[in-house]
Amino acid sequence: MRRNADELAKMRKAGRVVAEIHEATRAVIRPGASTADIDRAAREVLEHRGAGSNFLNYHGFPAVVCTSLNSMIVHGIPSEKVILEEGDIISIDCGAIVEGYHGDAAYTAGVGEVSAEATRLMEVTERSLFAGIEQLRPGNRLHEVGRAVQQVAEAAGFSVVREYVGHAIGTAMHEEPQVPNYWPGTPGPTLKSGMVFAIEPMVNAGEAGTVLLDDGWSVVTVDGRLSAHFEHTIAVTDEGPEVFTVL
Ligand code: MG
Ligand code: MG
Repeated sequence: MRRNADELAKMRKAGRVVAEIHEATRAVIRPGASTADIDRAAREVLEHRGAGSNFLNYHGFPAVVCTSLNSMIVHGIPSEKVILEEGDIISIDCGAIVEGYHGDAAYTAGVGEVSAEATRLMEVTERSLFAGIEQLRPGNRLHEVGRAVQQVAEAAGFSVVREYVGHAIGTAMHEEPQVPNYWPGTPGPTLKSGMVFAIEPMVNAGEAGTVLLDDGWSVVTVDGRLSAHFEHTIAVTDEGPEVFTVL
């Protein structure tokens, strides 16, 4: 779907709120903080901005952010009992609704000093996201995004998660079409200005496989190795990709 200038302006506002949540949550990430502290920081921003949460109550999800630690790939539930430790990496995924329009973005950060492998995994995952974003230009085919993401991740010796993917976004968080982070074998739809996507590579240090835990939400790597997740909401424009989820 193509969004008009008025809709894009609302999505820009929603994206900015998500970026503010990123800034606020980064400030609480330290050894000894709980993942519930991260959720509280996010709720304060939503309240302050008068924005809605597209995560809270999504299929029953109980928080406004997902907090996924180390080998957890996505959808971790914030908890007073999950305490960050020096050397951990934590993925924070969150969104906001402003005037009926959605933003969605994620990042992974280290807690204190982290290993060289963790640092490289985070750096490569973020770089793969921007390689995908570069493909969001009118006339390109959508699945060039996944091809670009996969190339960066695999060239670094890492693997790309297959079961969870990016998506179009607008008046709902998850709209069609989906955006795989790998080449799915077909080029997909032709991109046009005004289309908006959430691109979100999940990159594993080891194997690509995933396991859903008994809580029905938390997704972890099959081999217990680290995973990182970066996401932005981006519009296709005639001037090139415009990232909404930045300050
Ligand atoms: Mg997200
Ligand atoms: Mg998303």
